[in-house]
Amino acid sequence: MTIHDTPDDVRSAPSHFIRNLIEDDLRRGKWGGRVETRFPPEPNGYLHYGHAKSICLNFGLAREYGGACHLRFDDTNPEKEEQEYVDAIIEAVRWLGFDWGPHLYHASNYFPTMYASAEYLIGAGHAYVDSQSADEMRANRGTLTEAGRDSPFRRRSPEENLDLFHRMKAGEFADGTHVLRAKIDMASPNINLRDPAIYRIRHATHHNTGDEWCIYPMYTYAHPIEDAIEGITHSLCTLEFEDQRPFYDWLLDKLAEGGFFPRPLPQQIEFARLNLSYVVLSKRKLIQLVDEGHVGGWDDPRLPTLVGARRRGFTANGFQRFAERIGVSKSDSWIDMSVLEDCMREDLNEAAPRRVAVLDPVKLILTNYAEGQTEACQAPNHPLKPELGKRELPFGRELWIEREDFMEVPSKGYHRLYPGNLARLRYGYVVRCTGCEKDSTGRVTAVLAEYLPDTKSGTPGADSVKVKGNLHWVAASHAYAAEIRLYDRLFAHPYPGARREGDPENLERSFLDDLNPASLSIVTAQLEPCLRNAAPEDRFQFERHGYFVADRRDSRPGTPVFNRTVTLKDSWRR
Ligand code: ATP
Ligand code: MG
Repeated sequence: MTIHDTPDDVRSAPSHFIRNLIEDDLRRGKWGGRVETRFPPEPNGYLHYGHAKSICLNFGLAREYGGACHLRFDDTNPEKEEQEYVDAIIEAVRWLGFDWGPHLYHASNYFPTMYASAEYLIGAGHAYVDSQSADEMRANRGTLTEAGRDSPFRRRSPEENLDLFHRMKAGEFADGTHVLRAKIDMASPNINLRDPAIYRIRHATHHNTGDEWCIYPMYTYAHPIEDAIEGITHSLCTLEFEDQRPFYDWLLDKLAEGGFFPRPLPQQIEFARLNLSYVVLSKRKLIQLVDEGHVGGWDDPRLPTLVGARRRGFTANGFQRFAERIGVSKSDSWIDMSVLEDCMREDLNEAAPRRVAVLDPVKLILTNYAEGQTEACQAPNHPLKPELGKRELPFGRELWIEREDFMEVPSKGYHRLYPGNLARLRYGYVVRCTGCEKDSTGRVTAVLAEYLPDTKSGTPGADSVKVKGNLHWVAASHAYAAEIRLYDRLFAHPYPGARREGDPENLERSFLDDLNPASLSIVTAQLEPCLRNAAPEDRFQFERHGYFVADRRDSRPGTPVFNRTVTLKDSWRR
């Protein structure tokens, strides 16, 4: 696999192989100009960043070519689906900015057609009921190098098969005693064509169809039929289904012969799934992280779920930008997390107003500024958008600044506050540091300085004093304290759980071993006054710190709580 770690080498060409294919079909008039795609989640978990790639691709192509994209719940498996997941999926796709119009479907509504199709296949000699045990079936399946062996039940007559299938449906048999199999070729080099199972007995209650059925279609059988019923033109799926494509085509071809579906038939097209460093994108692992309490729930901002992303402050535009940038290809690769983070930065840089927050506050006292006096400084809301105007930052004798903006003994190249040095308080005055106060442990409790009255930003002559340091601050008299959650990557290693060079042979590494212990720290920050009334999901750039969002769960106007979405620069790139 290749590793892409800079945005440039994955910047998508104006086109990709799926677009080319669609345009080819349009030119040839294959579908009469129609482009119809689908996003078919199984409602057994929350959507993650990988699904966002698939959603942006399917809905994006439909939008681009004036077609439609269906949202289809692939709920043919009776065991796992839950309404909570259905609701979360609907909300996530909407949040990403897509609309399925009237095309919201449940695959379980197609059970009757799937059943009728199976009856047809049996009647036409293309399917049979196999009564071998699971072990016998496995043993007779053969291997990659060895052909399979025909089941002793393969020669059952269509009449006998139909009778057995009807009795399977009627509930006469226990789970696992019979399966319906497609009759293709037990010697096929493609194991998926060695008479794959298409219906199994499962006495289970389904969330939609209740106890109406005790036989359920296999996924590989159900999916092509779902596509054909809905008139899907291009059925996009991830690469692991490539070996299933011959069965997809075989099945729909047989059913078209039987008059079930018109030609042309939907075309399955495979693309590489998203693999992203520093996260895990498998439902099983995500469920484990939530269940074992490694994160605070499905919407924990560190989790690569779309609900988590939303709480983190990631944007729908950022995901669309990301999907365009990584493009689609036919070969598996890893995308570095910094590519996604850069897309979010680019979107937020445009969209987010600038504000001031001091995350690790220490007092700065201007000893020559009158006690009780305040004045207003003007700060632009967005440096790239003067039309957004300015806001007033109150200035006074006591200010909060970042603790790291003062050093009693400066290190080499340090241009901020140290005794004797000048620095600018951004949008305010230039100040000269005169010293500091400390407690008995030697910790600095206040930094002391004098301001230079003629240097106020925006007044004539403000720039007459040149300084290198430029600090942010908030006036202590007007600031107020708020909780800020500094989120970082959930894993400290790019490929969680992967073997490292030099690992002993017998070492079993779990992805949990790679959790980043510093993925969350909570601080009490001092904020400028106008942030107090931020509404949940309001996004800002806190100058010099990064992008932040008012938490959609815990934040209220008056008592905001902010999450760090992403820092201004990538601190992880090596
Ligand atoms: P599982 O196989 O564990 O059930 P899944 O992620 O395949 O999980 P689905 O609900 O079947 O879950 O996925 C819905 C759609 O999203 C499928 O079309 C699937 O191909 C696509 N998809 C899932 N994961 C990724 C990924 N990492 N990158 C791109 N597409 C993905
Ligand atoms: Mg799946």
